[in-house]
Amino acid sequence: MRSGIYKMSCKEIRRKVEVAVQNYDVNNTRSAIQSGKIIDLDFLRANGGLAEVQYCPENGRYIYGPQGEVLCSVHRSKVSVTQESESPGRETK
Ligand SMILES: [Zn+2]
Repeated sequence: MRSGIYKMSCKEIRRKVEVAVQNYDVNNTRSAIQSGKIIDLDFLRANGGLAEVQYCPENGRYIYGPQGEVLCSVHRSKVSVTQESESPGRETK
């Protein structure tokens, strides 16, 4: 039984944050994106039209990726960097 509270997934939250970042960027000459920095959700709510400040359900932190994508310190998905995770066993540790 759900009590009507719908908990958004990290991925969904990140998508919204990304939209807010893009919103901000089209309306401002200076980009909100600071690669590698923690994303200021309050700032995006005030300036990017983010509907509400929501954090990763597993307490990840949102960080700007190199292209302005929203990365989560816990989930880290959406990274196309050449870094393991689903490699078929090239671990040498
Ligand atoms: Zn997350």
